[in-house]
Amino acid sequence: MPRLREQKWNITHKRVPTLTLKRKLAILSDAAKYDASCASSGAPKRDSRGGKGVGSSGPGMGICHAYAPDGRCISLLKLLLTNFCVYDCAYCVNRVSSNVPRARFTVEEVVDLTLGFYRRNYIEGLFLSSGIIRNADYTMEQMVQVARSLREVHDFRGYIHLKVIPEASPALVNQAALYADRVSINIELPKDESLAALAPEKDVVVIKKAMGAVRLGVEAGQEKGRKARPPPFAPAGQSTQMIVGADTATDGAILKRSEGLYGAYRLKRVYYSAFSPIPDSSSRLPLERPPLIREHRLYQADWLMRVYGFDRAEIIGETEDLDLAIDPKLAWALRCRGDFPMDVNTADREQLLRVPGLGVRAVDRLLDVRRFKRLTLADVKRLSRGIETLKPFLVAADWSPGQLLDRADLRARLEPRQLDLF
Ligand code: SF4
Repeated sequence: MPRLREQKWNITHKRVPTLTLKRKLAILSDAAKYDASCASSGAPKRDSRGGKGVGSSGPGMGICHAYAPDGRCISLLKLLLTNFCVYDCAYCVNRVSSNVPRARFTVEEVVDLTLGFYRRNYIEGLFLSSGIIRNADYTMEQMVQVARSLREVHDFRGYIHLKVIPEASPALVNQAALYADRVSINIELPKDESLAALAPEKDVVVIKKAMGAVRLGVEAGQEKGRKARPPPFAPAGQSTQMIVGADTATDGAILKRSEGLYGAYRLKRVYYSAFSPIPDSSSRLPLERPPLIREHRLYQADWLMRVYGFDRAEIIGETEDLDLAIDPKLAWALRCRGDFPMDVNTADREQLLRVPGLGVRAVDRLLDVRRFKRLTLADVKRLSRGIETLKPFLVAADWSPGQLLDRADLRARLEPRQLDLF
C-alpha cells in the first residue's frame, strides 16, 4: 500500500493508542497552539448567578490564552479533539503525512476537562478544533456532541468557540453555531491557487459557502421585529484565520482578501498566523518563518480597516508589503502630510482617529473634555501615549508644529518610537 494511503487507513481503521489523559492533554493542547483565531470578545453575557448552571461568559472576556503544559491558569481551554487527520495540508504539522505523536480525546474527556478546569477557576471557556478523522461529518458531529453535552447536560454557560469544518454538512454547521458563542472557518491561505497547491483536499468555494451559511444564520438570529425570537446562533459571530508567509502573497494581497471577507461574510475578525516551519515539510514551503513583526503590522493594518475607518487601498496597494519599521497609520500619515496638522479642538472624531498616536479611547476622551475647555498639548499628553509621535500632526490651544511636518528627517525622528501599537 503506498505510504500516504496506508497512513490514512491507519487513522481511519486502527485502534487509537492508549494514552493517559495527561499525555493526550500535552499533545492536543500543544497541537492547538497554531490556531490563533480564538479571542472571545463580543460574546453575549451568560452567567450562573442564582445557582443555575455552570460558568459565566461575562467578566474577563476578550482574553484568549491557551492551556499551559504545566497546568497553570488560562482563560480558554484550547484543544484539538484529535490531531489525527486524513487531510494532507502541506503547511500543517498534523497532516496525514506528518510524523508527530498522535492522540485523540473522547467527547466525554473534553467535556470533563472543560468542567474540571472551569470549576478550578483555570478557564472561562473552551476553544475546540480538530483534525479530520474518518470524514468531515464524523468529526464535526463529535465536536457538536461536546458542545451539546456542555450546554444541555451540564448547563455550561461559559464561552464556547468551535472551529467549523467547512466540508461538514450544513445541518452540523448549523448545530455547532447553535451551541457555540463563536464559530470560525479557516480561509487558510490568502491566495486561492496557494490553497489548491498546498491543501489538495480543501476547496475555497466550499469554505466560502460555509462562511456564507453562517453569516445568514447569524443575521437571522439578530433580525429585529421577529415575533418568535430564534435561538442564539453564534451570537459572537464568526472569525477566520489566514497563514502568513507560507506562500508568496504580499501584505496588500492578504489585506485585500481580509477586506473581501469582512464585506462578504461580516466576519468579526481575521486572524493572521505567521507560518511556522514544520518537520519534514514540503520543499514548496519556506524554510524560515516570516518575522513576527510582519504579523504585528498586519494586525495593525487590519485594525485600521475595522476600527479606524480606513479603506484598505489607503493603507496599501495590492502588490505592496507593509513597512515593517513603522506602523501603517504613521506610514499613511507621512505619505499624506497635506492632510495635517489636525486641530485637536475642531477636528471631528473621524479625523482625529487618523492622527498617529491617537487611539480610539484617547479620541473619545479628548472629545469629551473639549466640551468644557480648549485642549492644550498637556491635555493631549495626559490622554494619549506617545506625545512625540503626535506633535508633528496636531495643533492644540498652545501648540503648533510649525515646519515640523515638512522636515525631511521626520520619519527618521519618529521611527525609533515605533515598536508600540499606534
Ligand atoms: S485539515 Fe486541518 S488539521 Fe488536517 S492537515 Fe489540514 S490544516 Fe491540518
